Amino acid sequence: MRSPDLLPYVLCVCVCGGAWAAELFAESELFVTCEPCIMCAGALLHAGIGKVYFGCSNERFGGCGSVLRLHDQSFPGLAGYPCVSGLFVEEAIQLLKQFYLDGNPNGIKSKHTTTHTRTRADRTRHAHDTQLPTPSDH
Ligand SMILES: [Zn+2]
Repeated sequence: MRSPDLLPYVLCVCVCGGAWAAELFAESELFVTCEPCIMCAGALLHAGIGKVYFGCSNERFGGCGSVLRLHDQSFPGLAGYPCVSGLFVEEAIQLLKQFYLDGNPNGIKSKHTTTHTRTRADRTRHAHDTQLPTPSDH
């Protein structure tokens, strides 16, 4: 699975899968680069995932230890799941950095992308096009 957003897939299998999905999840182990967010960690709890392994922590939204510890929770009818963190941390961080630098090849093209990638020459040309003074005009 290449999408960074796990939640829709988990929910779809849970809703559509019934009993066979519960058995499938209980026997499954999930390997991900980054700690599942709170929503995904909750979905995994409801799905009854067998075990989760991840690389880097998700300090802002992590649901498996960084912000909340949903994997450790036991609610009526739901059992927590074991989590192993810190696997290949540096490699995971590099993969995520590269993903966000390259952009999502399956995502919608953003108009903002060109704003962030303009070069100094582009900015200077834009300044001349709009007749604004540049620092070299003084
Ligand atoms: Zn998530």
